[in-house]
Amino acid sequence: MKRFFVILMALLCLTFSGQAREKLLTLYLHGDENENRIAVTIDDWYEPERLAEFLDAAKEYNCKLTLYPVGEILKEKDRDLWLRVLAEGHEIGNHSNTHKNLSKASRDSIIRQLTNFEKNLNKALGQEYVVNTLRYPYGAGRKSGTRGAFARAIRDAGYMHVVLWNIDSTDPDTIMRQVGNGSIILLHGNKKDLRAFREILPRLQEKGYEMVTVSELLGLTKTSPDPAAPTASPVP
Ligand SMILES: [Zn+2]
Repeated sequence: MKRFFVILMALLCLTFSGQAREKLLTLYLHGDENENRIAVTIDDWYEPERLAEFLDAAKEYNCKLTLYPVGEILKEKDRDLWLRVLAEGHEIGNHSNTHKNLSKASRDSIIRQLTNFEKNLNKALGQEYVVNTLRYPYGAGRKSGTRGAFARAIRDAGYMHVVLWNIDSTDPDTIMRQVGNGSIILLHGNKKDLRAFREILPRLQEKGYEMVTVSELLGLTKTSPDPAAPTASPVP
């Protein structure tokens, strides 16, 4: 009986230490640098009335966007616009409900922020939409690691893929200088960035880049690749 107990305790210890080491999230700054595919991501959308103009420009250059709106701006009155986003092959990701700095938030608050975003999105769309990826507001959380309590809260809210970026500029020349295979470009849904977006589109197309959604660029679904799986190949 005593020996059984010792073995049981040893097994429990192994289980818990295994869990502590388990990688819960993958952070992505860019995709495969050997493929001429890139992703243009556009955040916040405090001016949702700009969305149609972004979509018109994207359509002209066969650019599939990934939009990271905050949940609080997603309204039923804009349903046609958000449905158009999906109908035209773009992707929507979670950017929290109120653009909260998640790295400074409690576990409950993190989970509330991410689930309230989903509620607002589904309400605006009038349908259920599976959100594959998360983008931290301000990029805050990238230093909080992928294994601790912070990562656990994100994971428990249903997210394992955190998509950041490697190009953050609104200057078209800077973007064109920095862009390369696998780049993830960060823009925001405002008038200034619309101008930059319109200017880079023909230049990106001329360079032969295929402009795809982040899930396509990174080969992601909601639940795969699992960061804890030995076959997962995160981008540094
Ligand atoms: Zn933002």
